Amino acid sequence: MEKVIGIDLGTTNSCVAIVENGTPVVIPNRGGYKTTPSMVAVTEAGKRLVGHIAKRQAITNAENTVYAAKRLIGRKWNSPQVKNAVATSSYRIVEGPHNDVRIVLRDKEFSVPEISAMVLQEMKVIAEDYLGESVSKAVVTVPAYFNDNQRQATKDAGEIAGLDVIRIINEPTAAALSYGFGRNIEKTVAVYDFGGGTFDISILEIGAHGVFKVIATAGDTFLGGEDIDARIIDWLVSGFKEEHNIDLRQDRMALQRLKDAAEKAKCELSSVRETEVNLPFIISSGRNEALHLQRTLTRQTLEELAEDLVERTVDICKQTLEDAKLGKDEIEEVVLVGGMTRMPKIQSAVQAFFEKEPNKGVHPDEVVALGAAIQGAALVDDKQEMVLLDVTPHALGIMTFGSYFEELIPQNTTVPTHRTKIFTTSRDNQTAVKILVMQGESQRAEENELLGEFILTGLRRAPKGQVEIEVTFEINADGIVSVRAKDLETGLEQSIQVTATSGLTREEIKTMMDNAKDDLVDRRTSEEFEAAKQEAEKLIAEIEKLFPQVQQIVASSDFGRDAIEKARAIVDKARSAIERRDAAAVKEQIEGLTRTHRMFKGVVAKT
Ligand code: AMP
Repeated sequence: MEKVIGIDLGTTNSCVAIVENGTPVVIPNRGGYKTTPSMVAVTEAGKRLVGHIAKRQAITNAENTVYAAKRLIGRKWNSPQVKNAVATSSYRIVEGPHNDVRIVLRDKEFSVPEISAMVLQEMKVIAEDYLGESVSKAVVTVPAYFNDNQRQATKDAGEIAGLDVIRIINEPTAAALSYGFGRNIEKTVAVYDFGGGTFDISILEIGAHGVFKVIATAGDTFLGGEDIDARIIDWLVSGFKEEHNIDLRQDRMALQRLKDAAEKAKCELSSVRETEVNLPFIISSGRNEALHLQRTLTRQTLEELAEDLVERTVDICKQTLEDAKLGKDEIEEVVLVGGMTRMPKIQSAVQAFFEKEPNKGVHPDEVVALGAAIQGAALVDDKQEMVLLDVTPHALGIMTFGSYFEELIPQNTTVPTHRTKIFTTSRDNQTAVKILVMQGESQRAEENELLGEFILTGLRRAPKGQVEIEVTFEINADGIVSVRAKDLETGLEQSIQVTATSGLTREEIKTMMDNAKDDLVDRRTSEEFEAAKQEAEKLIAEIEKLFPQVQQIVASSDFGRDAIEKARAIVDKARSAIERRDAAAVKEQIEGLTRTHRMFKGVVAKT
């Protein structure tokens, strides 16, 4: 059966899993870690780095290291979230050609899906190295509250990475799948998912025979551990300003160090009551004197700094329970997911709200990828008994006269779903009708997210009101929206021209895909070279060590001198291939080197 990997593409960390012999397992990366930082960097030499190696060099290469790209995916340039990121990120964010966002790394602009594709490609490579075969199919998770633009952009990222994303599933739903997998339970559960960048809450009914039905979901795609880190950074920066009258934000490297230290302190305060933030030589004063930052942060101060953020998650929980028409007492289990749920204050806030101790039995960093892998396996195996019914997190509708939002598909409707609506012409001989499709909860159209302009073109010429077009709005199981139209009188499908509002064009995706493919080939070649070089250098070193001894023993005969000359030639050829970085040539010489080494050892052993 074809292998499908499950990828949790996180704001801070990503994780990949697979179902092996019926058991879902997380695949460790080469360093042995089960999660990989969702970080991408380009070095001065133009080398692309992803994951731990990108994180390790982030402080010294802050301007060319991207973190938390997921906060920007599928967002428009003029959105408040992007403005916020522009002001606080250590890397450069600029406007793209479609009112979208581009990130500048070493003078080259990358779209956000391209950056996410680098992380996805890394996860694909981790899986391929582990499985020893190539993998092309994946289930990728997204925050439940992601809108269509964000989902579509995530799908584009998968395509750029060379992955066939057979399904997009919501993170809390994936967590619930993993929680309920193989346990044959019947329960109503709430999944509270607080990660690095986003917050989600989903309420599900887990039924017999593997039925997972989401009843309601909500969240905030710009609320996560990053915001708590930002509060700590603010606190450190303002303290430093008071003391030295210097704004540390002006220095990108200082900002990156602060970010690292803030996150570290936050994590430490989950197990201790106070910790010291210690950043020697953080900046130099105007008088050329190095200044240090040293401050004690207590758990209590952290809790005060984060209080309103935690409160916001609780308010969203309250609203979601109301949407689900359930009382707290009807929730039988609260499952905690996401790294931030390790914070004691968050655990106690959840416990206080739901009035029951949350379940900490699932691994908060791995459960989402495991759920994605479970769903992936179920999609390619018809024998698996599992039904997943998710909902749309946002209402879908159109803009009507007076800038009102007319809702067509309400929030929390089970997907896939569709609704039809009849449009009529309002002028004689009108040949085109424009429909603005949007997602959101506000009655005012401009407060919702514009998904696209759909223009029905080539309509029959007829007196006004006589052409009736039936438009079908569809949300598929990925939560992705599509629109179809039909002329009711003729039954003909009507063509629709879609203007993307922030996404990439097909041509752009194709070019980015080719680039990503080339990069992967380069990387594989470079890895192949490094491995061959290492092996060859080891053999050369051993041969060189034996040379004087062998020379002494065999140099008296012509045959011996000839053998030594040949050995020298092989070593020289291998050295020159290493110098040229020619992987194939180095590999070619390894056999000769191995033979020579064996022969030398034999000569020495015999005397
Ligand atoms: P996730 O997106 O689920 O990987 O969650 C990552 C977020 O969890 C980041 O903001 C981390 O700083 C945060 N995190 C991880 N471990 C801890 C911890 N022990 N205490 C507090 N926050 C943590």
